Amino acid sequence: MSSKEYIDQQNKLADQICGSQTEKALEISLATEILAKKIYYKTGEAFSLKITAFCQHLTGDNSSALVNAKRSFEIYQELNIALEMYEVAKLLGRIYWQVGDYPKALQCTINTVDYALQLDDSDREAKARNNLSILYADQGLSDKSLEEIQKAISLYRNNGNVFEENRSIHNLATIHFDFGDLEKASENALIALEFFNKPNSEIEESELETEKANVLSELGRIYAKKQQEEQALTYLNLALASSVKTKSLNIQQAILADIGRVYLKQKELQKAKGYLDQSVELSNLIGSKKGLSECYNALSEIYEQMGDYQSALHYQKFFFKEYESVFGEEQDEKLQQLEVKFRVDSVQREAELLTDKNEALQDLANELDNEVNRKTAELRIALKNEKSLKRSLAIALNKEKEVNRLKSNIINTISHEFRTPLNAIIGYSELLSDDLAESEDDTSFYIEDVNKIQKAGRHLLGLINDALDLSKLEDDNVELEITTFDISATVGHAIESINQEMMSSHNQLSVKNSLPSSEVTSDEAKVKQIITNLLSNAAKFTQNGFVEINIAERDDEFVLIQIKDTGIGIPTENLEHIFEPFFQVESSLSRNYEGNGNGLAIGTNFARLIGGQILVQSDLGTGSTFSFMLPKIIIKDH
Ligand code: ADP
Repeated sequence: MSSKEYIDQQNKLADQICGSQTEKALEISLATEILAKKIYYKTGEAFSLKITAFCQHLTGDNSSALVNAKRSFEIYQELNIALEMYEVAKLLGRIYWQVGDYPKALQCTINTVDYALQLDDSDREAKARNNLSILYADQGLSDKSLEEIQKAISLYRNNGNVFEENRSIHNLATIHFDFGDLEKASENALIALEFFNKPNSEIEESELETEKANVLSELGRIYAKKQQEEQALTYLNLALASSVKTKSLNIQQAILADIGRVYLKQKELQKAKGYLDQSVELSNLIGSKKGLSECYNALSEIYEQMGDYQSALHYQKFFFKEYESVFGEEQDEKLQQLEVKFRVDSVQREAELLTDKNEALQDLANELDNEVNRKTAELRIALKNEKSLKRSLAIALNKEKEVNRLKSNIINTISHEFRTPLNAIIGYSELLSDDLAESEDDTSFYIEDVNKIQKAGRHLLGLINDALDLSKLEDDNVELEITTFDISATVGHAIESINQEMMSSHNQLSVKNSLPSSEVTSDEAKVKQIITNLLSNAAKFTQNGFVEINIAERDDEFVLIQIKDTGIGIPTENLEHIFEPFFQVESSLSRNYEGNGNGLAIGTNFARLIGGQILVQSDLGTGSTFSFMLPKIIIKDH
């Protein structure tokens, strides 16, 4: 066997098995081509290149297929072999169509019709017209497309080529579908499907299966378009099963995309995405730009419906890239729309986010505002209160000062202005009383009245003197005369001064003195007045009882002078008031006891002035005990 014979034989073998054992055929054709090239066997080389291109086209390697088909065509053109030029031009048309170069695909296919006519081969002419009609349909030229397919069908029919006739009927269905005549489309597709129910022993199994898959998927597409999605899915799934049997990735890719699109229509977005993703994978594998662009377009729509405008834009851009030259303007518009949608969506989302944040901030700001307002109001009130309090205090203090000043003025004036006439009243009433007593007439009636005048005068004088003393105390205007004296003697003098009272109220007075030393340094007059007042009260509020004076050393600092009586006692609720000026437990006009209620007030203030204190303990009806704590040495630190 010569080399050329061997090459022819190998090429023939590859040609026979390229449909069913594509990879094996490719292996053979590649090896054969090298061999043919080596021996400058052009026909052999061109044929090998043609088989290689076809196998590569079948396996999806369209770019390599294109290179090899072109090389093959050039050689056949050089050799002017019309039959092969027809075959390779037909293949080139298919490849160009698959890669999306429609003008070149159309040109190649038109050429095939010419070559067939040159060859006077009606079967090839039919095939060429069939392919041409598909390309016309693709370009939207319905009349030309239908004209060519009808010619193809009648040519096949005339030749008795039932399989190819059926394929053309299927193509007719596709063309009707492309131009929107769904009834005619389904009618023809169902006729085409019918063909597979009859036995076709003369046709190769894989070719039959491939065509069956194509018809089924066509029906799927038609029913999908007819909005009969369930029917569509049934046909498409049958088509997918057939295509899997044929191992044709081209068909599988298209069917997967179709199923994806039906689910998209049904708004089953996840399912749709699943099928389309698979289709994209296969499109990439077989280098089908058409497949990719269709899938990208559908995926973009899915994402758009999902509201993921960014991914939608992303896929639309992919789609645009694949079909830029064909649908430029339309895509531009779609892209712009999506771009706008995506931007609007992003802006909206951002705006929503900002609004949320803003609202939260606003809430916080409002809260703070309220808090600040509340606190400000509180502060304002507090300030106002404080201010008004201060103002009130200042006013009160001023008033008090003013009142005190006025009071002192009044008291001073009164005491001076009153004391002189009062002294005159008392003095003259004394004289009158003496004169009346000395009179030989019975003047007892007058003496009693004159004595009343004298008594009232003295009471009034006492009140005036008290008021003067209290006023001086309030003004801190009391001068102390400090000497060292014998306290026991002072108590003795005091007792003397109230002895008369003590006797007239029939009280028994006793004195206990346990002082180790009677020496005291203080204001003797004040000390004497304190003790006299206490003794006078004891005498006044005790009748037929006992008054006990107890002088003792309380500690190193103090002498304790206790005056204990068995008198009427003081109600507990009045104990805290008896040291107030002008306070008397019995304050009615018809009271039984003399006095003007200032003895204790003045006494306790005098005690305070010399660093001492007067304490009281009393039981109503039983008696009272007044304790005067006298510092041995005056304490003047207050
Ligand atoms: P007065 O001039 O009324 O005695 P004081 O200031 O000395 O004024 O006493 C105030 C009041 O305290 C008296 O009016 C009296 O009601 C009560 N009081 C003072 N000492 C005694 C006492 N020893 N027993 C009962 N009541 C007393």
